[in-house]
Amino acid sequence: MTDKIRIAIDGPSGAGKSTIAKNVARILHIDYIDTGAMYRAIGYKIQKSNIALNDREALKRTLLDTEIDFVEGNVILDGAIINDRIRTPEISKMASEVSALSEVREKLVALQRNMGQRKSVVMDGRDIGTNVLRDAEFKFFVTASPAERARRRWLELSAKGEPAELEQVEEDIIQRDHNDSTRELNPLKKAEDAVELDTTGLTIEEVTQKILEVVKWQS
Ligand code: C5P
Repeated sequence: MTDKIRIAIDGPSGAGKSTIAKNVARILHIDYIDTGAMYRAIGYKIQKSNIALNDREALKRTLLDTEIDFVEGNVILDGAIINDRIRTPEISKMASEVSALSEVREKLVALQRNMGQRKSVVMDGRDIGTNVLRDAEFKFFVTASPAERARRRWLELSAKGEPAELEQVEEDIIQRDHNDSTRELNPLKKAEDAVELDTTGLTIEEVTQKILEVVKWQS
């Protein structure tokens, strides 16, 4: 295997990216960077600080004063662990909204590039293969049908004791897909050189194995 490998995994919400990315990182003994968690952290902070999204000055000030890091699998915002607090439907929506703002993307993309420059990583998100790590050694685009993604998200929420209407979950997913793929800045799009994996009907283990096969075979 080469000295440093960067694996980019992009795709829409609920396709299983983060679980798959975590597995791949664990098996290859390299770091996992969840870029969605970074947009969620900003969405959470903006919501908590009651900042209006059109108040660009307040937004800029807040961003200058914001630190995001990953330590031992935890998401750290300004020194505090925020893992569960950013996994609510409300923050999912906020994350999607703040991710369309240029100030937010500039800050987070710079941070992500920095993280990807120093060491081998698996990074998942929407624009990793097309923008953040354009020169990544390996790129994957992971998808699944909206109905399948909604079913998985619904099961996740139910397991956490947060019952939701399946129809509503699917509607939210379709809305987020639309926002993410039609926004002007770094929309969700398959990189030309990415390997596409449709996970509908496949288990997480099967998809993880497919990625490992590509990585091992080409390294
Ligand atoms: O992946 P996750 O659902 O946690 O991402 C939350 C939101 O952050 C997405 O809906 C998307 O709008 C945004 N995002 C992004 N670019 C990334 C990762 C996430 O715009 N690289």
